[in-house]
Amino acid sequence: MNPEVYRPKPETKLTPFTVKEVLVAGNRGPCGGVNMAIEAANQVLDIVDGREPVYSNWDIVNNNPVMNRLNSRGLVSVRNNWDLVPDNSIVFFSAHGVPPDYHKIAAEKGFLTIDVTCQLVTVVHTRVKNTQAQGKHIVYIGKDGHPETVGVLGELDEKNRTFIEPDTDINTLVLPRDKEIVVYSQTTLATDEVKDTQQKLQDKFPGIIIPNRNDICYATDNRQLAAEDLLDNHTVDFLLVAGSSHSHNSEELRKKAEKKGIPSALVDKPEDVQREWFTKGVEKVGATAGASELEEDFQKILDIFRNEGIDPVVYLPQIVPEKDMTFKLPQGDIIALKERYKTL
Ligand code: SF4
Repeated sequence: MNPEVYRPKPETKLTPFTVKEVLVAGNRGPCGGVNMAIEAANQVLDIVDGREPVYSNWDIVNNNPVMNRLNSRGLVSVRNNWDLVPDNSIVFFSAHGVPPDYHKIAAEKGFLTIDVTCQLVTVVHTRVKNTQAQGKHIVYIGKDGHPETVGVLGELDEKNRTFIEPDTDINTLVLPRDKEIVVYSQTTLATDEVKDTQQKLQDKFPGIIIPNRNDICYATDNRQLAAEDLLDNHTVDFLLVAGSSHSHNSEELRKKAEKKGIPSALVDKPEDVQREWFTKGVEKVGATAGASELEEDFQKILDIFRNEGIDPVVYLPQIVPEKDMTFKLPQGDIIALKERYKTL
C-alpha cells in the first residue's frame, strides 16, 4: 500500500483586474415600497416565531438574497399556486400588488393576509378602476406575466382593456373606436421606452388620453437617470448592476448599458461576478443597484473590487435628491396577527 503523500496544490495565479476606478451611482438601492415590505415581513416572522409557516403569493420583493433570508425564517413563496397554502394560513400579498380575485380566495380560505402592496402600485390600481367605471377603455403598458401586471389587469374586465408591452407593434394595434382610451403603465418599466410607446400611440390614435402623471415610480425613474449619468457623463467601460434576474427595474438598468453597446451584467451575489469581465482592459466600472437590492448585499458585491485593492471606489452624489420615502406598514394586518395568537 502506498502511503499517502501530502502534496500541496500548485497555487493558481489569478489574472489581475485591470480596473482602476469604480463609480457608484448616487440613486440606487431599496425604495420605500421594498423597505416597507421587508420590515413587515421581519415583524410578522418575529411575531409568528416559527409556530407555523407563513406564505407569500409571490416573492415579497424580487430579490433572491432577501428572499433566501426570509425563507430561512419560515416564509414560503408559492408563486400564485394556492393549492400549496392550507386554509387559515398567514399569507403575504407581495409588494407588486394582487388582482382582486386573490382577496376573494383569501376570504374563502380564511387566510390572515398581510398586504404589503406598494402604495404607488395601489395608486395605479385605483386609477385604472376609476377609468373603467367612467366607461373608458384602458391601454396598459407592462411586462407580460409580471406580478404587477397580473394584479392591475385583474382589476379590469377583459373587454375594457388592451395589454401591450413597450415593443408591441403599435401599427397593427386595433382599439375600440366608440370609447375614450386612457393609457397607464407598470411602475418599473424604462421611462424612455414608455414615453416612446405613448408617443406612437398618440400618433396612431389622436385623442388618446395619457394622464399627465407618469406611472413610472420615483425609484425606478431616479435609478435610471443615475445609470444614464454613469454611462453618458462618466464614460464607464462596464456597468455592474446589483439585483436579481427577475427584478424588472434592475434589468432595465442593465439594458441602459446594452443599448449603448457598453458591456454590463446583472448579479445578485458576489459569486455571480465573472473575473474575466474585469481582467481584459476594463478600467472604469459603473456600479448601481436595483430598487429591491439592499445596501448590505450591494456592498458585498463591491468587496470584489476592494479585495483586489482597487481604490478609489467613488460614491457619486444623487442625480435627483430622493426624499425620505417611508411607506406605511400594514398595521391593521399586523394587529390582526397579534390577536390570532392571543386567542389561541
Ligand atoms: S419600485 Fe417603485 S413601485 Fe415598486 S415597490 Fe419600489 S417604490 Fe413601489
